[in-house]
Amino acid sequence: MSPAPAREKPIVGIDLGTTNTCVAHVRNRIPRVVPTDKGSLILPSVVALSERGGFLVGGAAKDQLLVNPRKTIYGAKRLIGRKFNSKVVQELRSYYSYEIVEGPQGEAAVTLGGQIYSLPQVSGMVLGQVKKVAEAFLARPLGQAVISVPAYYNDNQRNAVKEAGRLAGFEVKRIVNEPTAAALAYGFNRGLDQKILVYDLGGGTFDVSVLQLSGNVFEVLATGGDTFLGGVDFDNRIIDWVLEDFWRANKVDLAGSPIAMQRIKNGAEAAKIDLTLIPNVLIELPYVEEKRGKPLDVRVALSRAQLDALTADLVERTFEICDRVLGEKNLGPGDIDEVILVGGQSRMPLVQERIREHFGKPPRKGVHPDECVALGAALLGDSLDEIDSVTLVDVLSMPIGIATHGNHFRRILDKNQPIPSVKSFRLPPPREPGQSIEIDIFQGDSDLIVDDEFLGSLRFPAGATGRRIDFRLDEECLLRVSFEEPGQGMRQVNFATRDTPDALRRALEQDHRLREREEAARPGERRGLFGWFRRSER
Ligand code: AMP
Repeated sequence: MSPAPAREKPIVGIDLGTTNTCVAHVRNRIPRVVPTDKGSLILPSVVALSERGGFLVGGAAKDQLLVNPRKTIYGAKRLIGRKFNSKVVQELRSYYSYEIVEGPQGEAAVTLGGQIYSLPQVSGMVLGQVKKVAEAFLARPLGQAVISVPAYYNDNQRNAVKEAGRLAGFEVKRIVNEPTAAALAYGFNRGLDQKILVYDLGGGTFDVSVLQLSGNVFEVLATGGDTFLGGVDFDNRIIDWVLEDFWRANKVDLAGSPIAMQRIKNGAEAAKIDLTLIPNVLIELPYVEEKRGKPLDVRVALSRAQLDALTADLVERTFEICDRVLGEKNLGPGDIDEVILVGGQSRMPLVQERIREHFGKPPRKGVHPDECVALGAALLGDSLDEIDSVTLVDVLSMPIGIATHGNHFRRILDKNQPIPSVKSFRLPPPREPGQSIEIDIFQGDSDLIVDDEFLGSLRFPAGATGRRIDFRLDEECLLRVSFEEPGQGMRQVNFATRDTPDALRRALEQDHRLREREEAARPGERRGLFGWFRRSER
């Protein structure tokens, strides 16, 4: 008897990460990570322009970061789908060494060699490289993909990632939330009945989701996180500490030297990663600076215990967030059957130790923190359109609503709303009598629109007051809006514009001035390349 033909579909699962990207594929119902052409299982999410003017993607791009920081784009995941004048982008502009500019529709964009590129173009290059690598490895064309995104990604960000996939030549069959994909990799076809918590501490963000697993039904109960808590914050603590040590020894401030700072950043991250395996490391960086013609070196010993002391409060913050998310469903740490780890920073021994203490059990071994999201996305891709497929019941991680008077935010779809779902409301009267009705849509946790993300504006004729509007969330957590046409039922409407509304522009300017005044009133602190360095302690 001849063996059964291999069962595989032309679809891959992609974890498009802040730091690295991972791609997986399913064959005979078994998901596997696809190695890159260099044999590694992950591809750095970095795009660069070489000195010769050619594009570099992945490891080759990352390698030139040190010598060509202005032309090397990393961390695109934190910028994609965001407005240029949003608080997050303005904050990141002072962190990143490349230029971030305003794109044609007010979105954040980047420049490379004097030309403007959109973030979907940048991430599209990473995805394009992934496609090439996977097609070469599997020796066949792969036209479809399931791409994962953080659960807290808003509508703009999800759409931008879909666009990046399209630009790379993929038909993006589904956008899936990363923790849901991780849960799938853990529980698929295992017939489990458990409550699990996905603890995702990555390079830049912390994400937590609580799920109920019942066979192949994966139901998200609650989700939350902090978009400014991740591995870089741990690195920054080491960087601060090295700078202070160097200042004490040499009375030289290295924070003003971008090349020295980049070397210290690399050294700090490498030391942190080594301390996961060994108890002591030496950070040694020869010739980082000169003083009166003499070379100065960085040479400091760092122990795991010291690293733990420097970062304990960051680890504790993750548990405050876990408890808050659990509390939203009246659950506590004791209700969780398994903790699944995702993200490189979750490998830190202190994190694992504190998880054991906090949840009363060690985190689940056997689910690879770097690979499980891509594996889960691939499993989802493989099961789409299958009769015995998985059922995902996901939730909205951040409310969606509309601006009201005084720049306030009225929630229409609330946090933890299961998807797909629909909520209706009635059109308010126009701001001025006789004018068209303008509805500005936002997404975020704050009651003030300046702190939320602007999605777009809808426009209706003045006489439409009181008619029904539906906000519908599809299974990818994307917003679809429909509007009641008399005698015709509900009709889908698109945004009239995505340009920042005047009211928001004014509110942001006011907020910016306020922050500048606050910063001016704190002369003891200064913004460094990678965060706050406390001058007062030197
Ligand atoms: P991710 O975004 O999931 O790729 O996570 C990347 C982050 O994990 C970076 O901040 C890395 O420095 C960190 N990381 C990777 N491996 C380790 C390790 N073995 N121990 C501690 N942190 C790590």
